[in-house]
Amino acid sequence: MQGKIGVTSENLFPIIKKFLYSDHDIFLREIVSNAVDATQKLKTLASVGQYQGNTENLKVRVSIDKEAKTLTVSDNGIGLTAEEMDKYLNQIAFSGASEFLEKYKDDANAIIGHFGLGFYSSFMVSTQVEVVSLSHKEGSKAVKWSCSGSPEYAIEDASRSEVGTDVIMHISEESKEFLEDARIQTLLDKYCKFLPIEISFGKKKEWKDGQEVTTEEDNIVNDTHPAWTKKPSDLKEEDYSKFYRQLYPMGEDPMFNIHLNVDYPFNLTGILYFPRLKNNVEIQKNKIQLYCNQVFVTDHVDGIVPEFLTLLHGVIDSPDIPLNVSRSYLQSDSNVKKISSHITKKVADRLHEIFKSQREDFEAKWDDLKIFIEYGMLSEEKFYERAMKFFLLKNTDGKAFTWEEYENLVKENQTDKDNKMVYLYATDMTEQYAFIDAAKAKGYDVLLMDDMLATPILNQLEQKFPEKRFVRVDSNVADKLIEKENENKQELSVDEKTVLSPIFEAVTPSEQGNFMIDFEDLGETSQPMVITQNEFMRRMKDMSAMQPGMNFYGDMPDSYNLVVNIAHPLVKQIFEQKDGALGEELNQFASQIQTKKSEIEALNKLKEGKKEEEVPQEEKDKLNNLNGELSKIEGDRREKLQSFGKSSDLAQQLVDLALLANNMLKGKALNDFVQRSVQLIK
Ligand code: ADP
Repeated sequence: MQGKIGVTSENLFPIIKKFLYSDHDIFLREIVSNAVDATQKLKTLASVGQYQGNTENLKVRVSIDKEAKTLTVSDNGIGLTAEEMDKYLNQIAFSGASEFLEKYKDDANAIIGHFGLGFYSSFMVSTQVEVVSLSHKEGSKAVKWSCSGSPEYAIEDASRSEVGTDVIMHISEESKEFLEDARIQTLLDKYCKFLPIEISFGKKKEWKDGQEVTTEEDNIVNDTHPAWTKKPSDLKEEDYSKFYRQLYPMGEDPMFNIHLNVDYPFNLTGILYFPRLKNNVEIQKNKIQLYCNQVFVTDHVDGIVPEFLTLLHGVIDSPDIPLNVSRSYLQSDSNVKKISSHITKKVADRLHEIFKSQREDFEAKWDDLKIFIEYGMLSEEKFYERAMKFFLLKNTDGKAFTWEEYENLVKENQTDKDNKMVYLYATDMTEQYAFIDAAKAKGYDVLLMDDMLATPILNQLEQKFPEKRFVRVDSNVADKLIEKENENKQELSVDEKTVLSPIFEAVTPSEQGNFMIDFEDLGETSQPMVITQNEFMRRMKDMSAMQPGMNFYGDMPDSYNLVVNIAHPLVKQIFEQKDGALGEELNQFASQIQTKKSEIEALNKLKEGKKEEEVPQEEKDKLNNLNGELSKIEGDRREKLQSFGKSSDLAQQLVDLALLANNMLKGKALNDFVQRSVQLIK
């Protein structure tokens, strides 16, 4: 019998070859899984009594004939009669393949690794394909179908004594890699590792007396009963570890696993593992693998599982995930959405379970887990809600608390005058040591939030709990971190602050950011000066570092507060030195400023109640002049104070000490500081 495969076919073979070039390995999966299907069908027929032959130990064999340049996939499945060949290979498979290509001709990536092309994918690598088959049906004769990549095909008699099918692919010159054992072994490992029927490829090799010898035993490439197909109750912890090794031979032991087993409203099985993530959310090499009835589909599961779960390892197997559709369609598919939210729920439940039953172990693994959990909390509202039961806060002493426990711990001592609870945190134990120490000395607890998602997570928590506030331990002096009811402290007036600020401005390193000078009574025994960083600005900068769109904050210079402790004897000493050096001048400045100010005030009084146009020009000019003179005097005073600051070793030394405590004193400044210190000691 001879025939033509249909009219639209002229283009099919060139398209198959060219268009699928990037992913032509999948042909082997397609051909092998057809063979597995045919074998399973025969087993089913036998089990219902419709086939009497032996169906024990049926295998699919993959073999290479280098001389004939063929790659053959043989099975002992149901086989095909001549009529079935015409129906399934010429019509159904052909139209299936053309429909598939038509659908995806503009979207090559969508089909990568996905099903659909089927039998005809063999033409990606072959100049000719032959199918020799003997149907299981009684009285069938062996037949051969052949096609050389043009629309013509032939079906003729053949010889074959066993029921089943051989698909013989005559590998083309440009695909000759598929005649290499190693290449085929790699592909079988990738796509066929867990197929439910044994796949044999050559004979098993062994090392004997320092030599590799070929044994008589078939080399079986797959595990037909992978762990995820078994009942969780039949598996021990070590079975899960063994299976992890099967998936990722080089992987480090995972922390936990989750066995998924769903049959309603969709079918899904699988095992997910929590790998040790440490601090990096970098792209992971080992990925979740998606299977469809034990056939490997892809390890690009984005869209099927929520993004944060793509950090997990393991396997998901579902016949209900539509595979031959594009990714954008996948994301809007309601079944897929259900699957995704179910997996999220399962993962959260399992974590909660582990937390409850093995809290100590959970705490010990927290540092590896937290990035993953925080990522989930930030990206999936549902996960956030569940995770709040096991999300942990760890303090700088290494103690872990749940959200609820922590509230109880700090409620009393860390509620400020506006009735907000202040949660203090540090991001670096060494760099912020002095601040942590000072806060602890006040009886406060300090959390350690040192991972890269800390800033967004505490933003999220503040949004959810408006009565709580996170404050980094170095964002203010310990006394001011949590503002309680007013205490009896000396304070400087705005005027006094204006006068004193330039002294210290002059000795701050402007190249490192903007320094705002502030004066506080921190007590005699506290540090003379402390540098803090505004919580809001710092967080904005942290966030913008993570999101490329928020450059506005990222480009702003850092801004710091230099808090001068007016109760400290050394600071008082600076003030005295200033009085000694500039006392007279400062008094003169003060009285000049006072005079100007009262003149300005008098003029302003005159203006009161008048409209702008009713004020005589003369008066306006006078006012302008006075204002100009005032700022000139103030400017002069500033300059004087600044140059006093610059000349004061003590002021410079104290600022440098504060910078040093924040790890901000570097390079020349550090060198100058060391030399000045030596001079001072002498
Ligand atoms: P699909 O497997 O998606 O149906 P294919 O193009 O891979 O599409 O195969 C078309 C049909 O050819 C199959 O449905 C099956 O009926 C038949 N077929 C393919 N390979 C074999 C085989 N090894 N044994 C028996 N029938 C086969």
